[in-house]
Amino acid sequence: MDLKDHIREIPDFPKPGILFYDISTLLAHADAWQVTMGRMAKAARQHQPDVIAGIESRGFLVAAPLALKLGCGFIMVRKQGKLPGKTIRHTYALEYGEDTVEIQDNAIEPGQRVILVDDLLATGGTFAASVELLRKVGADVTSAACIIELEFLKGRDKLDIPVHALVSYD
Ligand code: 5GP
Repeated sequence: MDLKDHIREIPDFPKPGILFYDISTLLAHADAWQVTMGRMAKAARQHQPDVIAGIESRGFLVAAPLALKLGCGFIMVRKQGKLPGKTIRHTYALEYGEDTVEIQDNAIEPGQRVILVDDLLATGGTFAASVELLRKVGADVTSAACIIELEFLKGRDKLDIPVHALVSYD
């Protein structure tokens, strides 16, 4: 099955000139979503993870079922101010300004093997910041996984871990 057949391309979202790859149509198609998660699980299993970390917010949609499939825990990497209790944060530069990602301070035990998951890899800034954050608490970040890679943006060059993408656009 070609998963691209189930990914909708929406021009001028969220801003004029941006082509947005919409996974809503993939999620809504029972067979295509089964195939997606099966392929994700196959790629992820080889890293023998203890924990799957999902990046807010569409990353949660991929990471939570992946954790169930692999028998792992699931944790959330969120934007600042969304998680209750004590958190660990990492602030990173954007093209204009900065952003902060957070996890709960007890989410990971040092040395745990973690796979970081999002729906899409674009410039790699989000994945790179999340890797930094997880390493702050001693996680062994074994790999990154996503459904879609925008290869022409060369996001994987920002990462020093293997990246699995199910489909790529160039
Ligand atoms: P990056 O930090 O790699 O430049 O951007 C990746 C982040 O932006 C991901 O969290 C992803 O959800 C979001 N994103 C950027 N462009 C798109 C897009 O075209 N489609 C989807 N589904 N997410 C996008």
